[in-house]
Amino acid sequence: MARAATATINLSAIRHNYELAKSMAPEQRALAIIKADAYGHGAVRVAEALSDIADGFGVACIEEAVELREAGVTLPILLLEGFFSADELEYISENQLWCTVHSWEQIEALQTASLKQPIKIWLKMDSGMHRVGIQPADYKDAYSRLSEMDQVSDIVMMSHFSSADEPEKPVTDTQIATFNQATEGLDSPVSLANSAGTMEHNGARREFQRPGIMLYGATPFMTSHPVADKLQPAMTLSSEVIAVRELEAGEPVGYGCTFVCDKPSRVGTVAMGYADGYPRHAKTGTPVLVNGQMSRIIGRVSMDMLAVDLTDIDDAKVGSPVEFWGENLLASDVAVHCDTIPYTLFTGITRRVHKKYI
Ligand SMILES: *Cc1c(COP(=O)(O)O)cnc(C)c1O
Repeated sequence: MARAATATINLSAIRHNYELAKSMAPEQRALAIIKADAYGHGAVRVAEALSDIADGFGVACIEEAVELREAGVTLPILLLEGFFSADELEYISENQLWCTVHSWEQIEALQTASLKQPIKIWLKMDSGMHRVGIQPADYKDAYSRLSEMDQVSDIVMMSHFSSADEPEKPVTDTQIATFNQATEGLDSPVSLANSAGTMEHNGARREFQRPGIMLYGATPFMTSHPVADKLQPAMTLSSEVIAVRELEAGEPVGYGCTFVCDKPSRVGTVAMGYADGYPRHAKTGTPVLVNGQMSRIIGRVSMDMLAVDLTDIDDAKVGSPVEFWGENLLASDVAVHCDTIPYTLFTGITRRVHKKYI
């Protein structure tokens, strides 16, 4: 049998989660964000699975859009960072990609481009995250410059939240107020909300939502949330026990001997490591399911293997199934033990992991 490390992707869960996102603002549109290979779930497969219900897709760059167009995806695709160099504009125009404009450099480049067809522009404002975007005070100037260009067909006004996943902070409301003030009198559709904005903030739900992480069944919030309870995890990462050790108290496990048995223990070695994308930051105690029973990682995660505690797991033996996150163990709960967020767990899965679609 081949190495068992597998990411099982449940496409109907992704459809369910998209429809949940959509139901938060049923009259409006929602672009399914499938950048970074659909957060590790496989962009083409996810796009195909959503093709009859999605209003369009969002990706980070032209390479990701080309992959989708070449696979036959015809729905609108938004480039979330726009173009990085002016020579991308020809493809963008010919393939009718929707294109973010976040800087004056991009506006200049667009002005001098000669295009076969005008492009739909998503003009991004820096409403407080201070990453990319036109400053609020300059936004109307940028908007009118673009409105007058033959290269531009129409404009969507967008911004992005820094802290929508922390509803207790006032930052999101401040960003919305900044955006609303700077766009007063402009008549174009608006897009503000990522998953957290879509799930939590009434004022953030406008003409286009941009849900990402929630499509994959993980919550952006650190605390419980009523909408999060309805999400269905889409990726189950699993493998198998490949060896079992009976160890005396005092015996160490793994690199650096960082874990030492405090009592006689059964330890399982599992075919899963950081080269598969399982985080090396996972500390002793990170939850894992063996034979469907809750257990824990012990010692350091190696490149190709890691150790789990089998002491209290009935019947665990070579070949026993191990689930690292998924339907029965939330990636967001695992992430807490690895000082990270579910986004990095999903996007970190490497090509050595066999992908199975159900
Ligand atoms: C990635 C991204 C999103 C999706 O964010 P989630 O937190 O995954 O929902 C939305 N908008 C922009 C501009 C993004 O870059």
